[in-house]
Amino acid sequence: MTTEAIEVLDHGLVRLVDHMGSDLSIVRAARVSYDAAWRAGENEKSDNRLINYLWRNKHTTPFEAVTFTFEVRAPIFVFRQWHRHRTQSYNELSARYRELDEVFYVPKAEKIGVQSKDNKQMRDTNVETPWSRHEEVDWYTDHCQKAFKLYRELLASGWPRELARGCLPLSTYSHMFTTLNLRNLFHWLELRLHTHAQPEIRVYADAILKLIEPVVPVATKAFMEDLGYAEGYL
Ligand SMILES: Cc1cc2nc3c(=O)[nH]c(=O)nc-3n(C[C@H](O)[C@H](O)[C@H](O)COP(=O)(O)OP(=O)(O)OC[C@H]3O[C@@H](n4cnc5c(N)ncnc54)[C@H](O)[C@@H]3O)c2cc1C
Repeated sequence: MTTEAIEVLDHGLVRLVDHMGSDLSIVRAARVSYDAAWRAGENEKSDNRLINYLWRNKHTTPFEAVTFTFEVRAPIFVFRQWHRHRTQSYNELSARYRELDEVFYVPKAEKIGVQSKDNKQMRDTNVETPWSRHEEVDWYTDHCQKAFKLYRELLASGWPRELARGCLPLSTYSHMFTTLNLRNLFHWLELRLHTHAQPEIRVYADAILKLIEPVVPVATKAFMEDLGYAEGYL
């Protein structure tokens, strides 16, 4: 199975490529505790209650019975954050094997704001700047284009790809396939949906939530309720 890609940022995407299991797999894995695995699916209400109970009480291993593979295109700085999560298996495009396309992320002027004064890692977009960010976005774009021009010149003069790439911006888009189970995906979502996460990764978390909801609707609802997200967030 492969689902339609959800477009994210200016050139990014996330797509559900494959999955194994469903809400039923979670119930079956849990019910084997009292040797009633094959009663899963007989009583929908009881199954749904069980999934909610399991998640709320951190009985998380049954959620490992469901696995997802996603295709992702995102800026390298987003991947730097994503790859901190060690409980996924991923493979990424290698700039040693091939020349990178000139595709880089440019933030929208109105989404830039200023460095937050209260939070060391975040931006503050509620502050009016006395000048427009549009011209600065043009400088940023120009700088990235110049970096790609240099990259191509170095390659043309025989530089190895593995060294020439060093002059490229962190905003350059990369491409990966990542596989992880639902327990670890919920952990990833909890951290990356959070308001403290960078907006450029939060949009991927939003998209992933939309992609998994049809596969595991009961578990997703239990997870979202436990996080305190209101009904209708999706
Ligand atoms: C808002 C935000 C800001 C961040 N800022 C920074 C930063 O400034 N610098 C920085 O370096 N990182 C930063 N991180 C990354 C963060 O420290 C974690 O590395 C990342 O979120 C992955 O979380 P994790 O280790 O729980 O997930 P995973 O790596 O997926 O691990 C899942 C769980 O498995 C267990 N586990 C996995 N590996 C080990 C291990 N080796 N030992 C013990 N238990 C393990 C833990 O229980 C862990 O919670 C930030 C993350 C967020 C969300």
